[in-house]
Amino acid sequence: MRTGRRRWWVVNGWWNFEWLLKVCFVIEIIHMSNNNCKFCNGNMRYVYNYSGYDVIQCTNCHSSTISTLPSIEELEKFYDGFLFNADLCKKPAVVNKHIKAWYKSFNLRQQANMLDVGGGGGYFSFAFERFGFGKAFYIDIDHQACEFASSSLGLKNVINSAVENLHEHCKEKEFDFIYCRHVIEHLLEPTRNITNIIKLMKDDSVFVLQCPNGYSLEKSFYISNTKRKIKNLVSCNQFSFFAALRIMLSKKIVFGLEPIRHLWSITPKGLDSFLAQIDGIEYSVFTASLSDPVFSPWVSQTKNFKNKLLLKISQIFCSRFTGGAHLVAIIRKSPSAETS
Ligand SMILES: [Zn+2]
Repeated sequence: MRTGRRRWWVVNGWWNFEWLLKVCFVIEIIHMSNNNCKFCNGNMRYVYNYSGYDVIQCTNCHSSTISTLPSIEELEKFYDGFLFNADLCKKPAVVNKHIKAWYKSFNLRQQANMLDVGGGGGYFSFAFERFGFGKAFYIDIDHQACEFASSSLGLKNVINSAVENLHEHCKEKEFDFIYCRHVIEHLLEPTRNITNIIKLMKDDSVFVLQCPNGYSLEKSFYISNTKRKIKNLVSCNQFSFFAALRIMLSKKIVFGLEPIRHLWSITPKGLDSFLAQIDGIEYSVFTASLSDPVFSPWVSQTKNFKNKLLLKISQIFCSRFTGGAHLVAIIRKSPSAETS
């Protein structure tokens, strides 16, 4: 019996919906690989799927994001009642001599103004006022976090708004110290927001920007965390266990990227490349370990023996190779900009 060889377009004609979806997918992949990195302008390419999100990474600086970012409405819904770190037990870890000495090291004027961008629990604002450095202005998208900051911590200058609306609320004020701690990785437009914050700086302001270090292996020793990520990579990509483990030990680790909460994984090279493009500032970019009492007050002051041991081990074996889990930039206006 002669079996008819039917051509593929007869079986799966151009009008076939499934075929059209495949074409759209290929176009999307090409589109993604044509997107440029927001930090260094390098090429972005697809690396793998994580939790159902397509992860794209810069081939130059290895900063990463997801191919389709959520809408503003989705994010507002997600952060309504997010209440990150809002627990009075966490207050003592911030109101301590390390943070006080750190604030003091910036030689701020007396009765300075602090801007706490996306302040979460509000502890750093609280500590700033408690130590007598001046007034803190706190802004956060989560109305419950704002409620906690004003009623439980007694902060007077609380603004419930998205960081994207910072200028509306703050353009008339002058800030000596601006702290944006673990916020930009949550935003749709991290680089635009960094630029907007820099526009709020006076000639002698200090702006401290902190986010996860996209290269960091420091949390790899937290076994349950690593196991969860490997399991996710295996199930979403049909990788073998060892292929997923290799990714977790490479520059494709994209540390910090946890959609929809964290939309960006930013590397020191990416942040440095971006800041280098901004006129009129001088800055330093460095990483800080989880055992750093200023940049990591809660984790560093753990009383749990097992966690203390993990911190030590990860510091010895990981921080020295790929840097600490926190990526920090200290930004000032350059003296030449003051006179121009
Ligand atoms: Zn890049």
